[in-house]
Amino acid sequence: MTIKPVEARSHQAPSQLERHHLHRDEKFRNNRPALRWNNSIFQRNRGKSRRNVFIYYFCSAYSLNKKIMDNILVIGSSGQIGSELVMALRKIYGNDHVYATDIKQPTLEIRNSGPFQILDVLDFKNLLHFLVRYKITQIYNLAAVLSGNAEKIPLQAWDINMKALMNTLEAARQSDARKIFWPSSIAVFGPTTPRHNTPQLTVMEPNTVYGISKLAGERWGEYYHKRYGVDFRSVRYPGLISYKTEPGGGTTDYAVEIFFDAIEKNSYQCFLKEDTALPMMFMDDAITNTIRLMQADGNKLSLRSAYNMAGISFDPKELAKAIQKHLPDFSISYKPDFRQAIADSWPASIDDSVAQKDWWLKTEYGLDEMTRVMLEKIREKLSK
Ligand code: NAD
Repeated sequence: MTIKPVEARSHQAPSQLERHHLHRDEKFRNNRPALRWNNSIFQRNRGKSRRNVFIYYFCSAYSLNKKIMDNILVIGSSGQIGSELVMALRKIYGNDHVYATDIKQPTLEIRNSGPFQILDVLDFKNLLHFLVRYKITQIYNLAAVLSGNAEKIPLQAWDINMKALMNTLEAARQSDARKIFWPSSIAVFGPTTPRHNTPQLTVMEPNTVYGISKLAGERWGEYYHKRYGVDFRSVRYPGLISYKTEPGGGTTDYAVEIFFDAIEKNSYQCFLKEDTALPMMFMDDAITNTIRLMQADGNKLSLRSAYNMAGISFDPKELAKAIQKHLPDFSISYKPDFRQAIADSWPASIDDSVAQKDWWLKTEYGLDEMTRVMLEKIREKLSK
């Protein structure tokens, strides 16, 4: 069921989302550590002064209270990353504390496990209202037009990508939702950037509208951090590979499509040339590291633009070979389209040593392990 925007319903009976929220607050009130405060605490701490015991427990209860009350908004939760990120966040922070929002309907898993609401990030008033109303403390903003689609509608893509970010930064500045994750991309690099082991700090002259918007976004994020103290955090994602939802129109989408076609047709026609190496990452690694960055000590972060994230680098031919280990008859053909030029302007491999040092970026999946899991999970999914 779609829930109407919050403003339009303020005079009516509580909605499903509001009832859910009220019930959660009620549960929390009845369970507060402060209510469990009693004489047994003083008995357990015999020998210490009453004052010190009180201060110790008051501080623990306060910090527990603060931790329990972290409320997270995920914007763009119905997309490739959002569908998996929401579920991972709900496992950590509790279903009721992670609000999924998008302009399109979510997966069943998201809808059935916690709150979901239609919310357009381009509508500043509604966004700010949402942050205040649900006492949001952290935002993950995933809404964007991706590289392939952006080249078809350059001006619109620029407007959407920049407004989605600027509304989030400004709403964060004006509310308590001071901690923001917004993903950048390897698209911030361009044809003049060193293509191999691309350093964190280097020449950046992107020549796609998507890349230009991501580079501008990184600069604005850092600006809001320095100028207004907004806790902006970001990574330059490589191409992300997952099986739960379809990819959203990027240049690295071939590395997901290939698995579905391998199982369904035993062949795939690739829109990039066979030797186009690009950095990629399995979604589980991307999600784990995204949350790791958000949980990292802010004082240890030497960068407030976006951290390089390397993952694994391979080209379509190498990926096809990895698939052939499981499906020996699988065949691949190549018919490069407009996305070839985009891929040619991006790095083939990335140096992410700064992220490793600052917040322990670490990946688990190599090409073979990722291929095995993708084939297994897609087979399961298609047989249902
Ligand atoms: P996606 O296209 O699958 O999902 C984006 C979601 O945002 C969609 O569900 C869409 O409905 C929603 N959205 C669009 N406009 C909106 C609006 N006005 N208000 C609210 N929601 C809106 O994209 P994704 O692959 O999940 O990527 C998420 C973010 O990660 C994007 O910023 C993207 O640039 C970045 N990124 C992704 C990859 C990748 O390989 N997937 C790589 C690098 C960076």
